[in-house]
Amino acid sequence: MTITGTKVRKPKYHAYNLHNYLEIPQVKKLPPEYREAIEIVGNVLPFKTNNYVIDHLIDWKRVPDDPMFVLTFPQKDMLTPGPFDEMAHALTQPRETIRATANRIRLTLNPHPAGQLDHNVPLFNGERLHGMQHKYRETILFFPGNGQTCHAYCSFCFRWPQFVGMHDLKFASRESQKLIEYLQAHPEINDVLFTGGDPMIMKVNHLKEYIEPLLNSNLPSLKRIRIGTKALSYWPYRFFQDDDSKELLKLFRSVTKAGKHLAIMAHFNHPVELSTPAVRRAIKALRGVGAEIRTQSPILRNINDDADAWATMWNEQVNLGCIPYYMFVVRDTGAQHFFGISLVKAWQLFRDAYQRVSGLSRTVRGPSLSTNPGKVQILGVSEIRGEKAITMRFLQGRNPDWVQRPFFAKYDEQATWLNELRPFDGEKFFFEDELERFYRENLNTPTSEDFE
Ligand SMILES: *Cc1c(COP(=O)(O)O)cnc(C)c1O
Ligand code: SF4
Repeated sequence: MTITGTKVRKPKYHAYNLHNYLEIPQVKKLPPEYREAIEIVGNVLPFKTNNYVIDHLIDWKRVPDDPMFVLTFPQKDMLTPGPFDEMAHALTQPRETIRATANRIRLTLNPHPAGQLDHNVPLFNGERLHGMQHKYRETILFFPGNGQTCHAYCSFCFRWPQFVGMHDLKFASRESQKLIEYLQAHPEINDVLFTGGDPMIMKVNHLKEYIEPLLNSNLPSLKRIRIGTKALSYWPYRFFQDDDSKELLKLFRSVTKAGKHLAIMAHFNHPVELSTPAVRRAIKALRGVGAEIRTQSPILRNINDDADAWATMWNEQVNLGCIPYYMFVVRDTGAQHFFGISLVKAWQLFRDAYQRVSGLSRTVRGPSLSTNPGKVQILGVSEIRGEKAITMRFLQGRNPDWVQRPFFAKYDEQATWLNELRPFDGEKFFFEDELERFYRENLNTPTSEDFE
């Protein structure tokens, strides 16, 4: 794609974090207690934003309630009062105390360190392939070592334990060689899903190291390449105005030319992210090279717990040529007390929004929980023998045979996750014995397969 005609001022990516956020002009004007909260909470939870988010997504007149402000800036209420005061006090102490206090508080927030991902890490020729997860038969998740950070951090995200340093090109090609060998040995896999962090943080020469070998090797069973990303929302210029954007689009074009489906799994949390000229241009550029854009987001209190926002998002996505895909329930980690929503409430909001949109938007499925046994969809509240029940089904299962079988739990208005629900009848849900057998035969720790 060429940029001709009227001269466009090239926006340059500028990241802000705890070290330089006071330089943001809009932040300078905030009341001091907001800055103090950013400092205190930002020492515990991840914090990174950028000039696009600040200038085009946040409505500063609505701060502190503005959803994009809440999404990328630490807020006082993201810590409960105890830890907040502890951290406030620690900040007057030496560096070591600050770090130790932050780590202690983080551990109480149920982070999912990388070690807990072991369940789904494939074993191949006696070696654990770290950086991959193969849980559902057809799809492998691939975490490229160079894509483990993002253009900004979402305040609800606890992937920061994996936000690690950058690797070199050699590392990338070694990694992708292993992926190819694994795919050749597993013809049941049709989809490779690049995830992170955000793979679109990578320069095109890195991305090429991963994608081109997939196209150039003999992999007849690989049909689809998916890329999970929030770059359309946090840095849409990635797709048409960065120095290597042209190269990037060419790379994407080569995927579709090779006859593989290219799916951008785009993470959008709020309608405002779809409203700027830049995101629209980026969507067009991607569609122009034959990519399909599927959209997903968790439902988050204080950001998008509003049926109107969802209906608007889905409609707008369809208007722009994107395909609504998943609504997730946010897992019990990080500032859950701030973002969390009960399963029943999530279902009510989903249903309310779903009823307002036409069939073209009803490709979306949810609310869905990414749990150990699989992706569980809350189908709704029903009545069995005069007693209220929650009906669910698997959209994806560790055992594919679990998928699409309705099952029931006792009604619980407060529950926010599957493990808080009790079976409607009997002691166990239908899949539990098999799941326990799986744990015994494999590794021991529970997993988190949080992904874009
Ligand atoms: C959600 C998910 C996938 C992809 O599932 P689809 O329903 O095909 O989008 C793959 N692997 C893991 C571990 C997942 O959680
Ligand atoms: S949710 Fe995605 S984009 Fe947001 S911080 Fe986490 S990994 Fe990055």
